[in-house]
Amino acid sequence: VSQTSILEAAERERTFIAIKPDGVQRGLISEIIHRFERKGYKLVAIKLVIPTKEFAEKHYHDLKGRPFFNGLRDFLSSGPVVAMVWEGQGVIKYGRKLIGATSPHNSEPGTIRGDLAVSVGRNTIHGSDGPETANAEIALWFKPEELVSYTSNAEKWLYEP
Ligand code: GDP
Ligand code: MG
Repeated sequence: VSQTSILEAAERERTFIAIKPDGVQRGLISEIIHRFERKGYKLVAIKLVIPTKEFAEKHYHDLKGRPFFNGLRDFLSSGPVVAMVWEGQGVIKYGRKLIGATSPHNSEPGTIRGDLAVSVGRNTIHGSDGPETANAEIALWFKPEELVSYTSNAEKWLYEP
């Protein structure tokens, strides 16, 4: 069996991460990407998009009916969003750790929201909350051919064979 990746297929987990319009406008794109990159996760898709309101509603469909839903939808479609897919062992769960608690009042220092945001409606970043939502969100935001499969040179130093 040829070894194209050190990581077993089952561990080659992917998550959807988006830098929201506030993060983009505040010049935090490189800061946020840096945190995922230096951890050891691999970027497999990235693009800049202004989502329509309909698209934002699809993305946040599970929150429909919440009092803040319309504001959230309007905000997500108010400007450019950096949509990304990151890959690595445990990236869905640990990505949420890097991001921090939903409300920046509660997110720990050292997390993205803890270090870079102050209010829940402007918390700079989105990350999938589990394997099912990760798959659904990746499929919503990206066409299959937009996901780039490649071997990262760092993999052999990040994972045991
Ligand atoms: P997340 O997975 O940590 O992003 O949190 P949720 O999925 O629960 O909510 C999605 C987004 O809705 C959050 O990131 C917040 O920007 C926003 N949100 C959640 N709860 C509130 C709230 O109580 N008030 C406001 N204004 N926004 C909220
Ligand atoms: Mg969520």
